[in-house]
Amino acid sequence: FNDELQRSEKMEIISELAASVAHEVRNPLQVTRGFLQLLAEKQQTQDKIYLNMALDELDRASGIITDFLTFAKPEAGKSTILNILNEFTHIEGILVPMANLQGGRITVDIPPLLEVKGNTSKFKQAFINIIKNSIEALQGQGEIKIWAYAKERYIYIHVKDNGEGMSAAELARLGEPYFSNKSKGTGLGLMVTYGIIEVMNGELTFKSEKGVGTEAIIRLPEIGKPDYQS
Ligand code: ADP
Ligand code: MG
Repeated sequence: FNDELQRSEKMEIISELAASVAHEVRNPLQVTRGFLQLLAEKQQTQDKIYLNMALDELDRASGIITDFLTFAKPEAGKSTILNILNEFTHIEGILVPMANLQGGRITVDIPPLLEVKGNTSKFKQAFINIIKNSIEALQGQGEIKIWAYAKERYIYIHVKDNGEGMSAAELARLGEPYFSNKSKGTGLGLMVTYGIIEVMNGELTFKSEKGVGTEAIIRLPEIGKPDYQS
């Protein structure tokens, strides 16, 4: 028991530290990117290639922060009661504009009284990473449907897109660190998401068909039900 306690205290210290670092590092990354971009636009020589490589690597660093720590705030590692509709209102604020930019549409259908226990920034991070993948998988006029309901002591959340879909071989590798099919992917998004859902005693499954679309199904223990384990 003591070991367990120490471990969770250590984990909390590490995530607070990570959150502060992410917070502090994001701004200088953006500023550096701005100056490099200016330089790259002026150059006609070989140097332009190096500057563009530097820009790509900076974007990769920003991508890693996004996949891990979009909502992380120092000293916010606590677990509380989360209202699913409320959490998704915040998530939508970030993702709907992003989807619109790609010509996609997001519809959300969540009833008001669904509750689970967890950390609000981690919960949002988990879903941002799933939904961002859906947005990136859409070609042109795509659609993402998100809905949730309670059933037999669990809350179910579905995220379904009609994007490019995956083969069985790709599906089997989801969550594996650095597995990515994107030129600017980190391959860390779903690894982070699986970790968060697991800590919440939940389960994440994917169904997908190449050329048809992908559906993520998240199952979490409902609060206040007889079998609920804190
Ligand atoms: P990244 O997005 O940085 O590539 P992720 O861990 O988020 O890393 O996703 C890993 C890979 O899983 C993606 O590169 C993509 O090939 C595949 N993938 C995940 N979600 C979807 C989806 N909704 N539709 C199609 N492919 C997906
Ligand atoms: Mg991703």
